Amino acid sequence: MEQAPEQGAAPERKDRESPLDREFIKVIGHLGGEEAVKIVEALKRLGEVTDEVLANEVGIRINDVRKILLKLYEKGLISAIRVQDESTGWYIFLWRTQPDQVDTFIRSRRRKVLEKLKRRLSYEESRSFFRCDRCKGIYLSFDEAMERAFMCPGCGGPLRAIDNSKAVERIREIIKKLEAE
Ligand SMILES: [Zn+2]
Repeated sequence: MEQAPEQGAAPERKDRESPLDREFIKVIGHLGGEEAVKIVEALKRLGEVTDEVLANEVGIRINDVRKILLKLYEKGLISAIRVQDESTGWYIFLWRTQPDQVDTFIRSRRRKVLEKLKRRLSYEESRSFFRCDRCKGIYLSFDEAMERAFMCPGCGGPLRAIDNSKAVERIREIIKKLEAE
């Protein structure tokens, strides 16, 4: 008689990890460090469990476990369901992972970074700055420099335009890379 392949299989099998699982763990580690990875790996192994069971399993204080669970819950990376405990009648929360949310999470994070970079780019592109070679820490916008007839407010020497084309170029490159991902 043939045995079902899943029976008696080790609960944790690295060779079965999908790229999504690996990406999931990477994101978790980025957000919550080693402890979060430990917690999420235990959660994947155990299925739906309470924070108490989880804390016992990983040997991390329950308050820390809860903090990490809440953080990941807010990001939509794990979910929780409320159920009534049959013996006590109390409501308890069961936690479980949501690896399929990782894609959404990564995409929205990338979108936010891109928005920021584009704002920065248009700022750099639209503005020119002026400085004095002799006085440190004096930076003026075009309007400010013009008001002073392009003379340094510190020493009266000439103001020089700062070339920010390198910064602009670098921001453009990063944007291009992110958009291609
Ligand atoms: Zn000066």
